[in-house]
Amino acid sequence: MTEPTTASTDPSSAGNGAPTPPNSAEKHGFQAEVRELLKLMIHSLYSHREIFLRELISNASDANDKLRFLALAQPDLMAGEAELKVWVDYDAAKGTLSIRDNGIGMTREEAIAHLGTIAKSGTGEFFKRLTGDQQKDSQLIGQFGVGFYSAFIVADEVEVFTRKAGEPASAGVRWASKADGDFTIETSPREERGTMVVLHLKDDAKDFADGWRLRSLVRRYSDHIAFPVLMRKEGEASLDWEPANQGQALWTRPRSEVTDDEYKEFYRHVAHDFADPLAWSHNKVEGKREYTSLLYIPGRAPFDLYQRDASRGLKLYVRRVFIMDDAEQFLPMYLRFMRGVLDSNDLPLNVSRELLQKDAEVEAMRAALTKRALDLLARLAKDEPEKYAAFWKEFGPVLKEGTGEDPSNRDKILPLLRFASTHEESDEPKTTLAEYIARMKTGQDRIYYLIADTVTAARGSPYLEQLRAKGVEVLLLADRVDEWMMGHLREFEGKRFKDAARGDLELGGLEGEADKAAAEAALKDAEPLLKRLKDALGERVSEVKVSTRLADSPACLVLDEGDVGAQMRRILAAAGQPVPEAQPALEVNAGHPLLRRLEATPDGEGFNDLALLVFDQAKLAESGSVANPGEFVRRLNRLLGQLMTPGG
Ligand code: ADP
Ligand code: MG
Repeated sequence: MTEPTTASTDPSSAGNGAPTPPNSAEKHGFQAEVRELLKLMIHSLYSHREIFLRELISNASDANDKLRFLALAQPDLMAGEAELKVWVDYDAAKGTLSIRDNGIGMTREEAIAHLGTIAKSGTGEFFKRLTGDQQKDSQLIGQFGVGFYSAFIVADEVEVFTRKAGEPASAGVRWASKADGDFTIETSPREERGTMVVLHLKDDAKDFADGWRLRSLVRRYSDHIAFPVLMRKEGEASLDWEPANQGQALWTRPRSEVTDDEYKEFYRHVAHDFADPLAWSHNKVEGKREYTSLLYIPGRAPFDLYQRDASRGLKLYVRRVFIMDDAEQFLPMYLRFMRGVLDSNDLPLNVSRELLQKDAEVEAMRAALTKRALDLLARLAKDEPEKYAAFWKEFGPVLKEGTGEDPSNRDKILPLLRFASTHEESDEPKTTLAEYIARMKTGQDRIYYLIADTVTAARGSPYLEQLRAKGVEVLLLADRVDEWMMGHLREFEGKRFKDAARGDLELGGLEGEADKAAAEAALKDAEPLLKRLKDALGERVSEVKVSTRLADSPACLVLDEGDVGAQMRRILAAAGQPVPEAQPALEVNAGHPLLRRLEATPDGEGFNDLALLVFDQAKLAESGSVANPGEFVRRLNRLLGQLMTPGG
């Protein structure tokens, strides 16, 4: 294949043969962040230097995608050259390397803005995340969309020749920088549409100007690019160009012909994540609705997973034409960590975000893709539990949102949940609901759980004492979403969920006749004390009763099923919607020495002090704080003082 534009795409001719720039070259300073970034590129990144090629080819491919999309409405933008391509060329003698596209190009203003500043949000985060570890830092580059500047890893001077599609040759510009704090921009007439980036390689990077090396890098990093990446046939002098990549969008190829490495490399391209994905699902749907989807489960969470305005969603194509990034309408919020591509045959090419929101087709695809994603997770959980554990660690709390958000898929989501449990020694969330049910005691028909700030706190909670004594397993929950989630869940496989800290424990068949008789007797004995305690505590508690859950602790506070719990109250307060404290019941362990002591204490200040202490420590165990810590401490000290007085 011979390119008509060969001569002018030669980087040496670009450097020298391009029309002499007028003297009016303008100097611009780089934005402070860019300077910072350039320093990093130049001084710290020596390993994985070749990533610059992936980033520049990816930009060329983006530029072609953008033009193809605009040309749908304005076909004459493609005038002259209808086939979109990328060219990679080099000159070993001069030590130069060039990457050219015939895509959208840039105006002078755009070149100043895009190649002099970092527009993206999250740049601050990028700098915070730098570790000094070269390998890790170089991985951040693609992730944070600062790929262009990676050219300076291998070049001490970079020139960019560009002309915006639809503009005359006279609108061409030349951008150049030696990364020394500023760049110059000047008019530089240009016949070819699009952009050419010319790298003047550093002495120690000159080996990149090598056909074999470049070809293998293109194959490794850019094989999936949907445009041909052309290189000269046999050596630098050739006038024939041939593709160095497959040049076919990866998702359009049959599954059986795509290797795992290719899937992984493509993931890097769509997700801007250098780490490997955990799993993927590639499907072609035919029939009434036709589309191809390729979904990936990433191996790690992006920094903005919990930011409301974070970009999410799939790369959307319509009949191979790139339409938009971050099409978020095709997956629900709780699957926002999924990455991938959707290529529809049915959507109109001029589809917009607004149209996507109302479209019934989109709704149907979203339902299908949601199922597909949940199936992929189920498969990972079943076949590769270790990888699933890694997934859960990163994204578990996000998936939990689905239990409330998407009732229609609850049956698929519940088996995907993982819990820490009293059955396990470690605090790792490993237990599935099915495992819990399989381990239930005879006579047990509730799934017991407890919510606390940390799994450790839950494990040590007084609410579990009786259940533990009976050998009943309790799920230990400590994620921020847990109280909200459990508020949406009633049962799993016919077994009701039961908060071990609320209401009646509903022990059912776990409680023998003897237990019941003993409880009744204890209640009778304790009745006068219960009344005295209620009088002493007043409105702090709704009632005082004999506990069925305690074994070692003197007392605990028990909310009603419908009350807002400590975790939820804190979340709401943080969101500026404080809710009043609920009035809990105080449950006491009538056999406990402290309660015996109370019983023996006559009414008066001594009794009140002790009663309030019992209340406050129950409050501490429930929510980690008391209403009036100062008073609590004074009361405690009074009591300790008495203990220390001989005979006191
Ligand atoms: P990103 O590609 O994530 O936006 P980059 O640092 O790689 O970040 O590129 C910055 C911007 O520079 C791009 O968004 C684009 O606007 C512009 N740009 C870079 N390369 C090209 C190109 N070959 N053609 C047109 N615009 C480009
Ligand atoms: Mg880029």
